[in-house]
Amino acid sequence: MNIKIFILSSGDYGSRIINNIANRGFASSIVGLHEFSEDLPEFIDDFNNYIPKDLPECDLILSLGLKGDINMILTEIASKTGAKSAIVEIHDPAQLPIGLQREIEASSNGLKIVFAKPLCSLQPVGDKIIDEFAKYFGKPEIEIDGERFVKKINVIRGAPCGSTWYVAEKLEGIPLEDAELESGNKIHNYPCIASMATDSIVGDTILHLAGYKIKEAVKESLGFATRSAVVDESSCRGGEDCEHLCIDICPNVKIGGNTITVNDNGKAVINSASCGCCEICIRECPYGAIEIIEEKIDL
Ligand code: SF4
Ligand code: SF4
Repeated sequence: MNIKIFILSSGDYGSRIINNIANRGFASSIVGLHEFSEDLPEFIDDFNNYIPKDLPECDLILSLGLKGDINMILTEIASKTGAKSAIVEIHDPAQLPIGLQREIEASSNGLKIVFAKPLCSLQPVGDKIIDEFAKYFGKPEIEIDGERFVKKINVIRGAPCGSTWYVAEKLEGIPLEDAELESGNKIHNYPCIASMATDSIVGDTILHLAGYKIKEAVKESLGFATRSAVVDESSCRGGEDCEHLCIDICPNVKIGGNTITVNDNGKAVINSASCGCCEICIRECPYGAIEIIEEKIDL
């Protein structure tokens, strides 16, 4: 990886990611690490007491597990290190309220900041530095080799916490048709330590979002899904009467996915690769136009 990364970390979530980046052969890209205590005050008046000494020159700041006001320190650290870009992971709804995200962006002073909720949803954003990191770490992308059973899985891009490599190994030997469901089970076994609390912005838990991302990688690689929400076009009233409510409430859409789009007839269409089967759209569609299908669906 051709960038210098400075890591701000707090708690177990950060440690795991640091270890995985190093274990994947990128230890030399990490030019510095500062650990913050997990029990910092939620509201901080003077950040000067928290700015690490001897900051290294770097391109990217990776913020892992920081909660509350301490995240405001990013811009100051960027100005002292020369960093042009920052990735802030969010794995807990209580970690970084949307108002605080807006405050950080407003004071960013040219620093490109991406808030990744969760970090395994990160994809290239058109920023040279962030995209270099996202070549290797972020939304899982895999290649599955095997005829009827999974023979080998090659991880092209993996969740920064390491879960993708773990799941890839555990799926070896299982029937291809079971890989989608099993990938969701295996990520829980890793275990993914994203929060089980519902995120009020997304409408789902961040843990579930992580599960949807690994399943999506499996489905994309296999070229088929075994379970998905599907819209009955004849019942869908499209933009006419509901303003595509399902698109507004789909958790995957809320974190930047294209899980539900609109076809030429104005009807909603669900992408079975990224649908996590959360059933939220099924409950919310005023016309009962969506149902879960459990059968092989070619992508
Ligand atoms: S599926 Fe339901 S909520 Fe979505 S656009 Fe159609 S009618 Fe509206
Ligand atoms: S079930 Fe509906 S709301 Fe949930 S991920 Fe699939 S399309 Fe989105």
